[in-house]
Amino acid sequence: MINRGRPTQHRCSFCGRSEEEVMILVSGMDGQICETCVEKAQEIIDQELRKAGVQQEAEPSEGKSSRYSGPIHLIPPRDIKTFLDQYVIGQDDAKKVLAVAVYNHYKRLQQYGNTTPDDVEIEKSNVLFVGQTGTGKTLLAKTIAKLLNVPFAIVDATIFTEAGYVGEDVESILSRLLQVCDFDVEAAERGIVYIDEIDKIARKQDNPSITRDVSGEGVQQGMLKMLEGAEVLVPPQGGRKHPEQKLVKINTQNILFIAGGAFDGIEKIIARRVNTQIIGFNKKETERIDKENLLQYVSHQDVKSYGLIPELVGRMPIIVHLDPLDLVALRRILTEPRNALIRQYEKLFALEGVQLNILPEAIDFIAEKALEYKLGARGLRSLCEAILTDAMFEIPTSTKGDKKQLNIDREYAEEKLEGARIGRLKAA
Ligand code: ADP
Repeated sequence: MINRGRPTQHRCSFCGRSEEEVMILVSGMDGQICETCVEKAQEIIDQELRKAGVQQEAEPSEGKSSRYSGPIHLIPPRDIKTFLDQYVIGQDDAKKVLAVAVYNHYKRLQQYGNTTPDDVEIEKSNVLFVGQTGTGKTLLAKTIAKLLNVPFAIVDATIFTEAGYVGEDVESILSRLLQVCDFDVEAAERGIVYIDEIDKIARKQDNPSITRDVSGEGVQQGMLKMLEGAEVLVPPQGGRKHPEQKLVKINTQNILFIAGGAFDGIEKIIARRVNTQIIGFNKKETERIDKENLLQYVSHQDVKSYGLIPELVGRMPIIVHLDPLDLVALRRILTEPRNALIRQYEKLFALEGVQLNILPEAIDFIAEKALEYKLGARGLRSLCEAILTDAMFEIPTSTKGDKKQLNIDREYAEEKLEGARIGRLKAA
């Protein structure tokens, strides 16, 4: 072929514009495409997918509204506690402290933007819950979010450190928050995040009982900025699975972080500190200490000794303990909360036209077993399931038409539990 002296000029095969007229020209096997045509093509793809009903990943955008949009109504701490009482049994100290913290937090939010430079600035008060697993830490955080109608996300601190797995970036804590409020950035910026199992990212050398975590301190460092209040770039889909996603800027200044952990073995640290502190005091002082529930004396110093770095502990100024659940509490959990387990089963059976009567002696039995198996409140459900599964299996086919009543006494519960797998558990 003869070249007539002019160099071959590349053009966009779609719009025909030349190299000089476009910013980027991507070459393919048999043609080129410019940046404008790439964008147009993407629009067409989106439209077609929408038409076909294919769900696309939500596009984060600022100013987007959600069911969480709108002003926050301040609720006095006493009313917050009354609300919590409907769902969470006991844990009065934790409820009170949380109610005040949340109230102050939202008062601070209201003040935000209405301040003059010389006004006193109310600092953020993140909260740390210390209490055995299954005592209601998550439930408290969840219930309070329900009351406030703000986005609420639960994240597990262990996802950042799990052995054999390159953990997620700490920023993905906020991805969950964005997702629950449908990417409404404004709502996310005043939400509540519950970070579970914070104790599992404790530094290793201070806490020999934690074996699987090697990088806990790094994760703690990563969390500092976020907990304090900063602009953080968040991958909206979380994790590292979507490296191409656009990052969303979130200001964490008004996000309330509640962290919780069981801090297994912290009682020893507390005991050591309390004992050294009371040396030199009289005997009465020593006797006043409730050795059965040392967690109630937990302090920032103890969590630091456990292995949380001082900077992180400093960003959670409010620390509160949750009491271990005793027999009375477990029994109450079964029957009293608004959506108590026993009520749920009664409703399930009622829907089949059967009146379910779980006698007090059977309720005692379930609570005793949960305590004996060291299952805490979390175990109550499995025990109920084990006892009631046979009945739930039979009833839908055997009760057609005629109204019936099913009484569960202790003997029935014992018998069903014995036959169930969970019943073969031995108390640890
Ligand atoms: P954790 O302290 O490990 O976060 P959770 O709050 O997740 O425990 O509790 C597990 C389940 O046990 C809850 O969903 C709830 O049903 C029940 N539960 C635990 N503690 C309480 C409590 N104090 N009052 C009512 N239910 C509780």
